[in-house]
Amino acid sequence: MTSLNSDSANLGYRHPHLLGIEGLSAQEISFLLDLSGDYAKLDPRSHSYERLLDAHTVINLFFETSTRTRTSFELAAKRLGAEVINMSVAWSSIKKGETLIDTAMTLTAMHPDVLVVRHPDSGAVKLLSEKVDCAVINGGDGSHEHPTQALLDALTIRRRRGRLEGLTVAICGDVMHSRVARSNIHLLTTMGAKVRVIAPPTLLPSGVESLGVTAYFDMREGLRDVDIVMMLRLQTERMQGSYVPSIREYFHFYGLDREKLGLAKPDALVMHPGPMNRGVEIDSELADDIDRSVIREQVEMGVAVRMACLDVLTRPLRPSPEGA
Ligand code: ASP
Repeated sequence: MTSLNSDSANLGYRHPHLLGIEGLSAQEISFLLDLSGDYAKLDPRSHSYERLLDAHTVINLFFETSTRTRTSFELAAKRLGAEVINMSVAWSSIKKGETLIDTAMTLTAMHPDVLVVRHPDSGAVKLLSEKVDCAVINGGDGSHEHPTQALLDALTIRRRRGRLEGLTVAICGDVMHSRVARSNIHLLTTMGAKVRVIAPPTLLPSGVESLGVTAYFDMREGLRDVDIVMMLRLQTERMQGSYVPSIREYFHFYGLDREKLGLAKPDALVMHPGPMNRGVEIDSELADDIDRSVIREQVEMGVAVRMACLDVLTRPLRPSPEGA
């Protein structure tokens, strides 16, 4: 049976929860990426994962819709032997007027080991983590953070390029509403990458440069010589009013196509967290080009990253190998 469980493994991350990337050190991020990389090397079809989460319960508590993140956490938890309960609360308790905290208290009375929470409000997951007595993983809160997405993006880049330090990464599109952008900015700048953000003025938060990035309104200028092009979805569900003149115009100026990609390094990788709006922020054929696009690999790395996070956050609850 494959074991990644060593005594030293919880020395690298000593927090009870994973709420965001902001504030984590380069060592902590490297530790999580190394462990994720070890999980990524295991063959899922060999059915040889150690059941580290046997008799553990993971509750996926999603107040917002999700396909890949929820499924990815579910698969990761099940591969480690956990019981998984999926709860979509958007249309049930919330509609009946139950508050976030009431929902959390109800769930903790069932004694889960980990709560994976997605919520439309920034900060809601942190608030919840202060009220419950189990590990909490932020599965995306409003436009604030999506830490496991940034980790899986970094793992994908590291596997392809061997490092993060010194790379130039362009994050393009709806930066304003994107928790993916925020978590990636924190992670990549902490790890020594240079980050550019490219967006129309209406979709770039003011003062974004204080996060250590360079801002561009002109995509052609911003893509010049970058190593990685990370595209973001236009998050219309977070927009009140109109932020872009028309989809056609948006694609013309900010959609990634071969011509614009030609300005990046010849081997620049194309990434997207999904779900993609094909023909809006990315040319459909380019998204599927296995020579340039690593979008599928990002999904694959997502499971490995989530296994590592579940492993690390439940470790103190298990006896050490010596039974201490
Ligand atoms: N799946 C990512 C998120 O939950 C990106 C997106 O929805 O556009 O933030």
